[in-house]
Amino acid sequence: MLSAFIDVTEMKLAEARYLDSLNDIDRLYSDTRIALEESEQLFNAMPDAILQVDSTGQIVKANTKAAELFLYTLDELISINVDSLLPAHQQVNHVHHRDEYLSKPVAKEMAQRKVNLSAQKKDGSTVSVNIRLSPFKTKHDQHVLAVIRDVSETEALKEDLVASQVANKHLYEKSIRDALTSIYNRAYFYERARNELERSKRAGTPAALLMIDIDDFKLVNDTFGHVVGDKVLIKVTQVIGQALRSYDLLARFGGEELVVFMPETDQAESQIIAERIIQQLAESNGVLDPSAPEALPTVSIGATVTVAGDDDIDSMVLRADESLYKAKRKGKNQVLFQSMS
Ligand code: GH3
Ligand code: MG
Ligand code: MG
Repeated sequence: MLSAFIDVTEMKLAEARYLDSLNDIDRLYSDTRIALEESEQLFNAMPDAILQVDSTGQIVKANTKAAELFLYTLDELISINVDSLLPAHQQVNHVHHRDEYLSKPVAKEMAQRKVNLSAQKKDGSTVSVNIRLSPFKTKHDQHVLAVIRDVSETEALKEDLVASQVANKHLYEKSIRDALTSIYNRAYFYERARNELERSKRAGTPAALLMIDIDDFKLVNDTFGHVVGDKVLIKVTQVIGQALRSYDLLARFGGEELVVFMPETDQAESQIIAERIIQQLAESNGVLDPSAPEALPTVSIGATVTVAGDDDIDSMVLRADESLYKAKRKGKNQVLFQSMS
């Protein structure tokens, strides 16, 4: 009797333990399912497209962002090879790249910096992407996780920015140059020359200024017409530009009159350069007929160097202009210095 009673109790206890363990398994199962669901939700909530790819390139898992990006359904995605998500001309190479990566799988960007990757959607259109690869070892195979970010908007913005920078630079260049001769215009000359004058005053170095006027230019126009006159004017500015140093500032002051600011230049040096201008014009040909080239017009040059009290470019311009006037009166085709006149 007693032993039967004990047996029943133990059976009851065993049954209770069995039920408890079933409950435990249920709980574990439900916890695991929740965890799996949560990780699936997380996978799909990622802002980037994610593909899990096996060692043959077969896609084995993809998130909804990947489906949205590539315009495939999730089922379609996991039935294709990752190579087909590349533009046709890159597919063959990609097979080699994949093999290479699998021989040394590390987390890295798929392309070097500044290289734009494109991916191909189901409809054949392409999209600019960044791709980050991470190796992912399963029990039997080496997989790769590819995290793909659509950067087409950023790329488009970058392109817009570059285009507007180019346009701005172009506009700025146009605003500081003379339309006919492409040398600097008067407004820009004043802006730059003022800065240079300030700088030379601070450094205690001399600076020179030349006013250049083409001799008898009216005659060129009257003889050959305005169109030829324009060409001659362009040619004269080119020859003068070549006679100058890279840091000299040449501008069109107006009409057929040019101005040059020469930083860190004393009278002797500026005289050499002014005479070089006259010399090189004499040695250059005109623009009319290459088989019988005519001479270029000569120029007269009024020159000056900085003196104490030169607070503005205007006082230098005034002095150089006086010298220019005197050079014209003395017979043109020559340089006259203000201090020598
Ligand atoms: P000078 O030796 O005394 O300087 O004589 P000049 O004939 O050069 O001087 P003047 O001031 O009498 O005439 C300047 C001429 O330059 C008149 C003007 O039509 C011409 N000129 C000014 N700007 C241009 C231009 O952009 N194109 C052309 N073709 N001619 C111009
Ligand atoms: Mg003239
Ligand atoms: Mg003139």
